[in-house]
Amino acid sequence: MLERRELFPNVIELNYQARRRFGCSVYLVFSEQEWALIDIGYSDTVDEIIEMIRQMDFPLGNCKYLIASHADVDHIQGFHRAKSLLPNAVIVGHPDAARLLKEGDRLMTYAEIPAQNISIELPPILIEKQVNEGDRLQIGNLELETWHTPGHTHGQLAFRMKNLLFSGDNLFRDGCVGNIDAHHGSNIPDFIRSLERIRDSDVEWLLPSHGPVFRKDAGMVQQTIDRLGKYQEMADFGTCAVRWPLLDQWEEELVAGIDPKAHRD
Ligand SMILES: [Zn+2]
Repeated sequence: MLERRELFPNVIELNYQARRRFGCSVYLVFSEQEWALIDIGYSDTVDEIIEMIRQMDFPLGNCKYLIASHADVDHIQGFHRAKSLLPNAVIVGHPDAARLLKEGDRLMTYAEIPAQNISIELPPILIEKQVNEGDRLQIGNLELETWHTPGHTHGQLAFRMKNLLFSGDNLFRDGCVGNIDAHHGSNIPDFIRSLERIRDSDVEWLLPSHGPVFRKDAGMVQQTIDRLGKYQEMADFGTCAVRWPLLDQWEEELVAGIDPKAHRD
């Protein structure tokens, strides 16, 4: 039997367990006879991950849920393979993730990024149980409370368990956030609201979908919110920006007949 390296009581993270980086974070939550995974990563690491889980003495038939934090291929590609190894597991996700996966949307899931010659397999994945804000998932005597936290993408979920938040791609330890991209359904005002909710909650630890877990620090979350606040007014963020003050300024200057060569900041 493999010794279980619990990050928190009843929580194992598989990269941490293996002491090496597979891909995205893969959280195993267990209680009594039941267990569940939040995300799984790419297909090619599934067999190894599930073998580790078996060696940690979790019966494969007792996996209750495979939970998608969102529909991005780097988080969920392996669910197709995992489902064949974990016959009783029900795949769980937001209705928007369910729709994207049902339609096999290769752009919104990042399976296809033509400008970067990225084209990866997106196997058929059926989200069998749709969850949304406030829905609860029972694992043994533990409960995950679903938070709908749009911003990175509309179907982004986070899951609260006592003082822990499985926080998805909302925020990482270095203050970065999940990528902001109009073609991915990103929305900066929504993102800010999701981060404000995290900032104001009494959650103590964030367990992100990429990189190490970290203690929630309201000041650090605020810095990220402030940065995203600026993005709303920056052309750098294209159609994800909500306004571009330079154009208003220009209009005023045009109307006033101001010579732009005379402009001083
Ligand atoms: Zn991600």
